[in-house]
Amino acid sequence: MILSRTFPRVLEGVAALLLSTASTGAAAQQARNVILLLGDAGGLPTLNAGGILANDAPQSLYLHTMPNIALSDTSSRNQWVTDSAAGMTAIVTGHKTDNGMVSTLPSANGAVVPVKTLLEYAEERGLSTGVMTNMKIWDATPAATFAHVGTRKDKAAIFKQMLAPRYGNGVDILIGKGRADAIAAFAEQQTTPEKAFAAAGYGFGEDPALAQQGGRIAVLRDSDFAPIPAVEATIAQLARNPKGYFLMVEWDMHTDDPKKGLTHVKEMDDMIRRVSQIAGKDTLILFTADHSFGLRLGGGERGVPLLQQYNTEAAKPGVTAATNDVISVQDGHTGEEVVVAASGPGADKVHGFMPNTRLFDVMLSAYGWKQDRQAR
Ligand SMILES: [Zn+2]
Repeated sequence: MILSRTFPRVLEGVAALLLSTASTGAAAQQARNVILLLGDAGGLPTLNAGGILANDAPQSLYLHTMPNIALSDTSSRNQWVTDSAAGMTAIVTGHKTDNGMVSTLPSANGAVVPVKTLLEYAEERGLSTGVMTNMKIWDATPAATFAHVGTRKDKAAIFKQMLAPRYGNGVDILIGKGRADAIAAFAEQQTTPEKAFAAAGYGFGEDPALAQQGGRIAVLRDSDFAPIPAVEATIAQLARNPKGYFLMVEWDMHTDDPKKGLTHVKEMDDMIRRVSQIAGKDTLILFTADHSFGLRLGGGERGVPLLQQYNTEAAKPGVTAATNDVISVQDGHTGEEVVVAASGPGADKVHGFMPNTRLFDVMLSAYGWKQDRQAR
């Protein structure tokens, strides 16, 4: 803004004051980057038991120190209990949809209607984007950030859309499992993942450390990997873009195998602590779950490690836990609210009870963006 020479001095002062207020206000409230950390099935009962299992103390996770907390409804458009597809669609598009649908809405004529995701808003604006998961890269939660399919089972279409983005040049860093699935899906197109990703401008491999080599990277593997080095490499690369970045990290916390799921709570919590250390003050960090899960901590003595107090086999779903009620798993996904924890610019909008769709608004407005009139 250039002020005219004849502009009265006093108004000039007021204008300068307004400008400086506006700019410092924007610096305080606007995020350059958003990191969405999704504990899949990481409801309150799982965070509670996972934290006690890790530290033998209540409220001992890093998550418990995050300044802004809300409770998010996770119901889907057609069910009280959501699956991961509809749950993640609500979070990244602001629209509740039917279970099984991935960033699409049902329509009267039976066709599915794609809805624009936060990752697509970011790509459209030239930000860098990343998706990292300890699940398969084409699974419903990661897929909802970049793909639009009527059913989460449509693996071939999800892989195709991964390399045919509607906005920008698509996800810049992809790290996840499902390498064997990728080989099968690309074989149907008479190609291999190596060739298909290379043609789309990606470096391709199995080691998450590839993320720091520069350029666009797809890491697909069939085994687990350490989250902290992977997320450090990813953030270091994404942060090179002065326009900012959007990163979604999913860590599975399903407790069908309670010991495994609860161990993942600590793994993810340690990762969130590290992310909070390395992401700058201009980063909105948001943790939530797409839905809760039917795990309960039903007993246990203080002073004895929790792991010694329950039979990890007896605690599995369908196993009657008559002799051991310290931890039990009675069913799958459940419908109660999940916690949202946030820090950084825009985190102050995270409070009270909210629908999961509001998380989309929180992230979009943290960037200072407005939702398209027709967000298709
Ligand atoms: Zn889920």
